[in-house]
Amino acid sequence: MSTPAPDCVFCKIVAGDIPAEVLGRSEHAIAFRDLHPQAPFHVLVAPLDHHENAAASAAADPASIGHLVALADEVARGSGNADYRLIANTGAGAGQTVFHTHVHVLGAAPGMTESL
Ligand code: 5GP
Ligand code: ZN
Repeated sequence: MSTPAPDCVFCKIVAGDIPAEVLGRSEHAIAFRDLHPQAPFHVLVAPLDHHENAAASAAADPASIGHLVALADEVARGSGNADYRLIANTGAGAGQTVFHTHVHVLGAAPGMTESL
């Protein structure tokens, strides 16, 4: 387990130091509802260990990304959202605002079949 990063909001959620609506947790990751949902089902799945983005987590442990996908699928299906999108913003230029690895899980919604 890596050391939590000071002032990282997701490390604080992992530690239970700030509240979040947690939908699932595994040995490696935590799933909680986004504070500002962009879809009826909008959950974030983050590793317990702090790395700044998905590529950094993969470099430290390739399996960490598999653990994120597995928990994302579990909470999505468990909430009746078998169809969903996973998004990992990487870098401020791509809209990343929290620099602790996470994937957005967006349940299928009308209009979502349009390609990116
Ligand atoms: P990013 O833009 O970095 O990919 O996504 C960060 C997401 O984290 C945003 O969608 C934002 O709404 C969410 N977020 C930021 N702070 C908090 C928080 O304290 N709690 C929760 N649940 N979500 C947060
Ligand atoms: Zn962190």
